[in-house]
Amino acid sequence: PSEQIEQDPRKKTLVILGTGWGSVSLLKKIDTENYNVIVVSPRNYFLFTPLLPSCTTGTIEHRSIMEPIRNILRHKGAQVKYYEAECTKIDYARKVVVINDESEIKGATSATEVPFDMLVVGVGAENATFGIPGVREHGLFLKEVGDAQAIRKRIMDCVETASFKDQSDEERKRLLHMVVVGGGPTGVEFAGELQDFFAQDLKTWIPDIADHFHVTLVEALPNVLPMFSKQLIDYTESTFKEESITIQTKTMVKNVTDKYIEAESTGPDGKKKLEQIPYGLLVWATGNALRPVVKDLMSQIPAQKDSRRGLAVNEYLVVKGCENVWAIGDCAIANYAPTAQVASQEGAFLARLFNSLAKTQEINEKLAELSETQAVAKPEERTEIFNEIKDLQKRLRRVKQIGPFEYSHQGSLAYIGSEKAVADVSWLRGNFASGGTWTYLFWKSAYLSMCFSTRNRILVCVDWIKSSIFGRDVSRE
Ligand code: FAD
Ligand code: NAD
Repeated sequence: PSEQIEQDPRKKTLVILGTGWGSVSLLKKIDTENYNVIVVSPRNYFLFTPLLPSCTTGTIEHRSIMEPIRNILRHKGAQVKYYEAECTKIDYARKVVVINDESEIKGATSATEVPFDMLVVGVGAENATFGIPGVREHGLFLKEVGDAQAIRKRIMDCVETASFKDQSDEERKRLLHMVVVGGGPTGVEFAGELQDFFAQDLKTWIPDIADHFHVTLVEALPNVLPMFSKQLIDYTESTFKEESITIQTKTMVKNVTDKYIEAESTGPDGKKKLEQIPYGLLVWATGNALRPVVKDLMSQIPAQKDSRRGLAVNEYLVVKGCENVWAIGDCAIANYAPTAQVASQEGAFLARLFNSLAKTQEINEKLAELSETQAVAKPEERTEIFNEIKDLQKRLRRVKQIGPFEYSHQGSLAYIGSEKAVADVSWLRGNFASGGTWTYLFWKSAYLSMCFSTRNRILVCVDWIKSSIFGRDVSRE
């Protein structure tokens, strides 16, 4: 009830789900004066995911790439409500979202409903496991801050346990075998960061492990980084070889136990072979899967029947078969790869669209008012009103001129370890592919400039300097 009092009944209620790349980009650019804006997300911060792999080894501390959502919202013109909760159901027919407080501390109310006039679904995706047994129980993912912290802890646990008195060589070898499944950019960047950690710090601090520490990247397809050009794929593979990271391509993991994975590899003769690969750390990075709340919404809308990978949207990002529901980012399927670049451009597009919708409504209301005044106005006043109406109609046409969403690809960048990066960049209508140390410097400056705030930028720089002067912190916590 208190919320209803605070809300302006003349404005529409816009509910935004999520605080990731898509939703935050929308929030940054939308004029919140025009709507009653309510944000629902279990994560009360924005996370700069491109630098998350660096947090798994302590090159960067996780808080340096987090921006509190409260800080983002307090700069908005009108008050925006934020609820730290997970949306567990979108009831499209009733136009409400059901929200649950999933945090440790719960008040007397921990589940309720939020009605909406307009809804933006920006909940991202969850980790794909393809139903492979044992992945959730024994593997670690790399999507959220908690995942990076868990990996950092597990690396050190494996290292310290391997150094335990009287540990057998075989066990030591297993514990120090770091297996990464998935040769997409997440897997490749993590493998590179982990090898750096070993080569630059662990080897010096704990020389006992030097002979056995080994990183293996397992990929089902014939090569890693399929979205990069052939030249950069070759460059990445040869750099990994130099760094002594093993890449096992054409190898599909089928089963995971607590100590080894079972993988089927295809040899050059086309013969398939099942092998057991012992591991100490297993990081699972095989891409995205639908969140249950998205799956459930799709099941309510007949037009989504044939969509498999996410919410099918039209060129204005409206969820097909729905009215006043939009989807952005990894949960939407708009023929683009699920990247931060796409999500943030989609969010910015919706902000423009919503600003324009509000302006259109404002102008229409003014026009209706003027038409009424004109009908009862004295003849000498009519010309002036007529001109005013013409001006407004012109403005209306301009405001309404918002075309469909068009994605502009800026390029792909990935860090591959040993201070090298690969980049496929679109520039001046041309495409440029480059790899190496200069590209690494470009990668560093590009991501630094893309960080959310000046505070983040400074913190990331300080972390880089700190880890290069003092080495990464090897405490297990
Ligand atoms: P997200 O950013 O994942 O945000 C989803 C939000 O929804 C989160 O706030 C989450 O808490 C919230 N949420 C989840 N469930 C619910 C629910 N039920 N109710 C309400 N809220 C919910 N892309 C690039 O372009 N370049 C890169 O360099 C790059 N590097 C990456 C590195 C890593 C390690 C990872 C994992 C991804 C990387 N990506 C990169 C991909 C990029 O992060 C995603 O494409 C992007 O985050 C998608 O944005 P989004 O807004 O759809 O989802
Ligand atoms: P991805 O979907 O790009 O790659 C997953 C890989 O795992 C695939 O190559 C797939 O063949 C492999 N795989 C699947 N099942 C397997 C199995 N059972 N055994 C072995 N291999 C298996 O996933 P990602 O790397 O997590 O990336 C997700 C999205 O985020 C992508 O769109 C990506 O472009 C984006 N991203 C971009 C960057 C960057 O630009 N630097 C970094 C991270 C993520």
